Amino acid sequence: VSRLPRFRNLPLFGKLLVPLLALTVFLGAFGVFLVVRDLSARAQSALEQDLSRRSLDARSLVRDRELYLLESVNFAANLEGITEAIRARDTRGVARLLQSVLALKTDLDLVVATDAKGVGLVEFVHGEQGGGTQWGPQGLVSSALAGTKSPGILTAGGETMLAIAAPVCAQPAGCAAVGAAIAGIRASALAETARGNGTIGASIYDTDGRLLADAGTVRAAKSAPALPEGGQVRRTSRIGSQEIATLYSPLEIGGRRAGMLSVSIPTEPAFASVRGARVRLALVLLAAMVGAVALGAMTTRLILREVRPLVAMNRALGRGDLSARAPVLADDELGELARGVNQMAEQLQATYETLELRVAQRTEQVRRLLGERTEFFASISHELRTPLAIIQGKAKMMRDPTFPKSEKWTADTGRAIGETTDQLLALVNEILELARAESGRIELELEDAELADIVRELRPTVVGLAKSADLKASVDVARDLPAVRVDRKRMREIIVNLVDNAVKYTPPGGKIALSATARNGGVQISVADSGIGITPEAGDLVFEPFYRVKGAIPQRGQASSGLGLALARRLVEAQGGKIWYASEPGEGATFTFTVPAVKTP
Ligand code: ADP
Repeated sequence: VSRLPRFRNLPLFGKLLVPLLALTVFLGAFGVFLVVRDLSARAQSALEQDLSRRSLDARSLVRDRELYLLESVNFAANLEGITEAIRARDTRGVARLLQSVLALKTDLDLVVATDAKGVGLVEFVHGEQGGGTQWGPQGLVSSALAGTKSPGILTAGGETMLAIAAPVCAQPAGCAAVGAAIAGIRASALAETARGNGTIGASIYDTDGRLLADAGTVRAAKSAPALPEGGQVRRTSRIGSQEIATLYSPLEIGGRRAGMLSVSIPTEPAFASVRGARVRLALVLLAAMVGAVALGAMTTRLILREVRPLVAMNRALGRGDLSARAPVLADDELGELARGVNQMAEQLQATYETLELRVAQRTEQVRRLLGERTEFFASISHELRTPLAIIQGKAKMMRDPTFPKSEKWTADTGRAIGETTDQLLALVNEILELARAESGRIELELEDAELADIVRELRPTVVGLAKSADLKASVDVARDLPAVRVDRKRMREIIVNLVDNAVKYTPPGGKIALSATARNGGVQISVADSGIGITPEAGDLVFEPFYRVKGAIPQRGQASSGLGLALARRLVEAQGGKIWYASEPGEGATFTFTVPAVKTP
């Protein structure tokens, strides 16, 4: 069973066809069975009727013969002068008399006149004259000699005969038999008579069922079945390819059971119509099956016409062709399915396109970041190279024995190397800090603090820086600033960095102002200067590492790494604030950043 294809795995065509065929075959076979059964029953009953009719005919024909025999024997026993002739044992006279019987009753096979002892005086067997046979032992003859007319079967001339014996009486009243008259017909002739026309076989059996004679083209059975009292028995036999139905019925002569009579007919003609019908029905069933297959094929084709585009679309989608759509061919369930699948494909396509766009954007971003990274490292190398070249140059001079080294040169060189290494160290520290900030590993020691304290502590530094650059400085802290949560050290670093830039880019005579005000629940710190300002093109690039505004040179030759603002922004953001600036080129710049207040629970 497991090797048979599972029904659910059959293609659509098979799914439709298998039940359709099964139903057709089942209903068809059932119909054929019913019709054939009905026809067979009718044929059977027709056959039985035919057989009964023929049996009846046969018996009536036999009865005719019986009457014929009775008439003959009566005629013989009552012939004028027969009593006298028998008494006188006048064989010639008896023979003459019996010949007159034969002349009238030409069908007789046996005509006998016996003496009182049952010995034949004159016997005509098949027209041959004889005499001297002892007929007495034949029961019917002894009955006749005893005075009763009696029918029965006897053997004469080696043949079985149906015969009637009658007494030849001395006087009409109270018969005292002087002899007996016997008239007989061959059993085979009787069978021939019983056959009539059209019956293929008729047979005569004795009371024990032994075959006595048969006629016709069919060999009769050697023995007949026992008959129920007054009943008939039907048997079917087969001779070669021919089926024969035989009806056995009782044969009565003179009101007594003398044996059995059978008639046989072929069953073929009765069942021919059934066979014909069977062939026709088989053809109809075949046609129905062909019709079912055709119908199934047609329906499947109709359905497949709608399904195929869906399958094709599904395959196309599988291949990645998201533009594939299926036509909506009908307003049925499959049409609905097609619409649904189309919608799904549309959504898929839209999602895919958005995704593609996003991937493209991300790729661009990554490419840009990688570019920036490369640029960043190039900048670092560049920044490191200058101080290192200075130190290398000084070292080379010191190693040169031909170079005269005065005490002043040595002192200057020592100071230059010291300053350069300080600068280098500061740069390396800044890079390190920035790298930490970039990778989110910046370490903050957040605490609740009063910004006023921090600014107050920074005041001397600010004033000192401004004074050294010949600038005026103001420090202004608003009252009642909220407490903030910051890293004090980082806070100082940011402010000093902004003040440092203000000093760096403001020519002598200018001024710088540091102020702290409350804003949006937090604190806002500004460093304003009256310096060279920043060109609008620079924008937020000033917060990028190593970026310097073109043409903006520190006023007093201070070092410029381009890392200060980048670091400041990361530190501000790490503490939850924001940084920005406003500037008018030539008029100055104001850098502002915010810090969040302590969260009150
Ligand atoms: P730098 O070490 O060069 O000062 P920064 O990151 O601190 O690096 O600043 C980046 C650039 O922004 C500077 O090179 C300068 O061109 C510009 N800049 C910063 N602060 C000011 C300011 N107060 N006035 C004018 N330009 C400024």
